[in-house]
Amino acid sequence: MYRTHNNGALRAEHINSTVTLAGWVQKSRDKGFMIWVDLRDRYGITQLIFDEERTPKEVMELAKTLGREFVIQVTGTVIERESKNPKMPTGDVELLVEKLEVLNQAKTPPFTIEDTTDGGEDLRMKYRYLDIRRNPVKEKLIFRHKVSIAVRNYLSVKDFIEVETPYLIKSTPEGARDFVVPSRMNEGQFYALPQSPQTFKQLLMVGGMDKYFQIVKCFRDEDLRADRQPEFTQIDCEMAFVEQEDILNIFEGLTKHLLKEVVGFEIENFPRMTYDEAMSKYGNDKPDIRFGMEFGELNAVAQHKEFKVFNDAELVVGIAVPNGGSYTRKEIDKLIDWVKRPQVGALGMVYVKCNEDGSFKSSVDKFYDQEDLAKWAEATGAKPGDLICVLSGEASKTRTQLSALRMELATQLGLRKSNEFAPLWVVDFPLLEWDEETSRYHAMHHPFTSPKPGQMELLDTDPGAVKANAYDLVLNGNEIGGGSIRIHDKETQSKMFDYLGFSKEEAQAQFGFLMDAFQYGAPPHGGLAFGLDRLVAILGGQETIRDFIAFPKNNAGRDVMIDAPAKIDEAQLKELNLKVTL
Ligand code: ASP
Repeated sequence: MYRTHNNGALRAEHINSTVTLAGWVQKSRDKGFMIWVDLRDRYGITQLIFDEERTPKEVMELAKTLGREFVIQVTGTVIERESKNPKMPTGDVELLVEKLEVLNQAKTPPFTIEDTTDGGEDLRMKYRYLDIRRNPVKEKLIFRHKVSIAVRNYLSVKDFIEVETPYLIKSTPEGARDFVVPSRMNEGQFYALPQSPQTFKQLLMVGGMDKYFQIVKCFRDEDLRADRQPEFTQIDCEMAFVEQEDILNIFEGLTKHLLKEVVGFEIENFPRMTYDEAMSKYGNDKPDIRFGMEFGELNAVAQHKEFKVFNDAELVVGIAVPNGGSYTRKEIDKLIDWVKRPQVGALGMVYVKCNEDGSFKSSVDKFYDQEDLAKWAEATGAKPGDLICVLSGEASKTRTQLSALRMELATQLGLRKSNEFAPLWVVDFPLLEWDEETSRYHAMHHPFTSPKPGQMELLDTDPGAVKANAYDLVLNGNEIGGGSIRIHDKETQSKMFDYLGFSKEEAQAQFGFLMDAFQYGAPPHGGLAFGLDRLVAILGGQETIRDFIAFPKNNAGRDVMIDAPAKIDEAQLKELNLKVTL
């Protein structure tokens, strides 16, 4: 037996008992006649004491050779500590060591295994197994486990069955490139790794599984924007004989359950907002509603005066910054520079200071009188002491710019509190989205999403206006889940492929199996998927998902620890009939 207790277990009640512990040397202090060692494992730290007068000589000698991260096993007697440490759960006791065995030596680690380490990100990733020994990383992995277990418990009680679906499949259109895997046995052919288990979960509904879920890896070959991973984990779900409302209710329940179980946060409000409303109030289909600062459209009150910039704009829109009235000229200039950065792209910003006495001072006083500005304040909900920031231009760009400003200001003002949670559903997404690059419409969610009842006809006349039975779950300004009610008949599905520009042959080759299945009694069905990595990070009050993933990839999609991706040898290439032309 390597140990009788773990390193977080010993308390005053264990005093005088003989125990065996194992773990890593966190640190040791050698006073010559006395040596203290902090012994660490996943569960905690126990202080060991080696004392010249009470510890056998050879054990004392060996103890002097212990370095950081050595793996040791010790047996001894639990004794009361002279100076107790109330900050440590084991701080009342220490172990007077009688026997010591070095199970393994360790090179000096390349960074300190402490909560705050001197190791940079790259080094930590290269030696991720050492990084995982650190509390902050270890705790995040344990936290993730808690979330997964809570998900499984909730869904299992609600009759969901976890079913595994294959990884070696063919393309699932979720809007990214596929990772492909050459098949040795089927010469010249390739599998694609699933961008999601979408078609399989639909087939499970045709198979009568009724309620399916899976905590599953998905693979998308995308240019990695900050904090994305080429492989990531979804809580993937599907249900048969449901309408949108049934799905929203179940997963609203899951979200509340997680917030309560994992972070002890009770949710009262779980608003639903249409996509159109989210865009007009927040300029964003994943609005952060932990704070207000809703958009006020100013076209009616700001156009048709002498100010050409606004007259020429499709949209004039503003937000009220709480207590921003006291911003100095310099601070406002900084904001203007911020919106003019290429990443945001506004041409400028008009502002109005709402003075405490009810008067206004604006950057466009030449064109607007106090009465005009009072209307702006009304439209944006600005109070005396606030600052109104106004952007204008082409509608959708301007909304995006103002949304970026709203989030930036909220961050600056400390309104995005990581221990507050404000989930909501955004519903009634457009079915299609115009793609500038290819000059055609694409499925906004995916091609299996059904249009709202009665809207199929609109496809021919006003495709952009067709709304879908599609919904997103948004938490603190992040899309953490999304799904839809699916098409479940062959004819509509085939029309949809048609519409999305698949030729009959392409549609048949890629998705014939699904349309075939729809001919054998497919029940009405729908579902959604949550991004587990992001969800866990938000619940954990963090911005980045990386530390919640045991072995993440870097921004170039590399695993720097195992050094992947890597070349493969000639023999392997030959076996796969592949030729690298680089
Ligand atoms: N497969 C979708 C996704 O990965 C989710 C869904 O529609 O259920 O976004």
